[in-house]
Amino acid sequence: MAILPTEPEFEQAYNELATTLENSTLFQKHPEYRTALKVSAIPERVIQFRVVWEDDAGNLQVNRGYRVQFNSALGPYKGGLRLHPSVNLSILKFLGFEQIFKNALTGLSMGGGKGGADFDPKGKSDGEIRRFCTSFMRELGKHIGADTDVPAGDIGVGGREIGYLFGAYRKDRNKFEGVLTGKGLSWGGSLIRPEATGYGLVYYVDLMLQHMGKGGFAGKRVAISGSGNVAQYAALKCIELGATVVSLSDSTGALVLDGAEDSFTPEDISAIMSLKEKRKAITEFSGNGKHRYIAGARPWVYVGKVDIALPCATENEVSKEEAEVLVRNGCYVVAEGSNMGCTQEAIDLFEAERQTKGSSAIWYAPGKAANCGGVAVSGLEMAQNSQRLRWTREVVDERLKDIMKDAFEAGLKSAAEYVETKEGELPSLVAGSNIAGFIKVAEAMHDQGDWW
Ligand code: NDP
Repeated sequence: MAILPTEPEFEQAYNELATTLENSTLFQKHPEYRTALKVSAIPERVIQFRVVWEDDAGNLQVNRGYRVQFNSALGPYKGGLRLHPSVNLSILKFLGFEQIFKNALTGLSMGGGKGGADFDPKGKSDGEIRRFCTSFMRELGKHIGADTDVPAGDIGVGGREIGYLFGAYRKDRNKFEGVLTGKGLSWGGSLIRPEATGYGLVYYVDLMLQHMGKGGFAGKRVAISGSGNVAQYAALKCIELGATVVSLSDSTGALVLDGAEDSFTPEDISAIMSLKEKRKAITEFSGNGKHRYIAGARPWVYVGKVDIALPCATENEVSKEEAEVLVRNGCYVVAEGSNMGCTQEAIDLFEAERQTKGSSAIWYAPGKAANCGGVAVSGLEMAQNSQRLRWTREVVDERLKDIMKDAFEAGLKSAAEYVETKEGELPSLVAGSNIAGFIKVAEAMHDQGDWW
């Protein structure tokens, strides 16, 4: 049994993939792939360890640390580290499982993994973060390496944490190697890595809009949730392309603009970035007086008529009821910057709309495809580290655009081949992307004798 009874998030991610494979013609054409699914649902390895560190008052603190090394058939394990009190094995298995197929969609040589700890970085001093990261890496460092497993950031892990983690690895192992991505520019980082997930999401949605015959982002109203790394750069790119960004949020609540012409500006985003760097809540955003703050809320039911919704905060942040409101308000694209941003019920609703409303339906893009730009540029960072070279912004950005296009087209192609689609219906990006990623991994595993 691949799913343990205490793993609801992993169960949700596994069922989402398995159901789309079952509902396509994939298993009719290739019944042997059922075995591949069964094998790939169990991680190659799970590492669990304790992290003991000292707080500023000199007290001992202890947390649970993890690394799920899920699948290495396509390359070294690759996936972020999450530091958040909610972290547990179910969440990391869901994220690691998604990561396998997402990484496959980038076309780069990367396996899938995920890790982190139930440590809450909020309210901690720099010294506490450094001592935690050093202790965390003391154990994690035994299990990773530039050709073995290359973690990156995720929720709660930004440039500061990557720096402390990299420094701890370098000193412990006496090795300066590309063991982490998201590094500082002067010590092996790639240009465009901080921007990559948000920018890549917008490039992906741009391709959806073109496919739908709706032009580009200019003049579109976009609702975004979150105000961290992914949300910030998605918002900046939308604004750059001429869209109106009408919402942002964080774990305390949502900021919403009501005026038809009002948009967050690049200056607003940079003010929010500096608040978030200081780990402050968006309530402290003074803005230009046009926004309202809704405590404890997500933005979707407050944004009114929008063309595009981009969940960019965390998992399960669009419920069925919120999805219904988005549809009623004329939203026609939902694309996940966050991992598993929509609940299964919301996805079912979007997919049902797609099947019944033809070309005027709402079109849903799963995070696995739409947010693969972050890990793609991490892959490009690994390539630059191996060459001991740094590519220009333009080169990395162009490659990111190409990778997003390839991921989008891979989803369309597999949907055309394996998913029944009626005349005039938009193809299922969730089924197509799942199938495209799965086949690539299953084939590599088969070639390497992981299943037969
Ligand atoms: P950050 O930590 O930079 O930002 C996370 C944002 O989400 C913050 O605004 C945070 O609010 C909010 N948030 C976190 N947990 C909750 C919650 N339980 N309820 C409501 N809001 C919440 O993370 P990222 O921007 O890097 O990641 C966002 C999402 O994108 C995650 O799902 C991540 O897995 C995914 N992702 C990230 C990639 C990357 O390259 N960074 C790549 C691919 C996917 P607050 O500030 O109050 O904590």
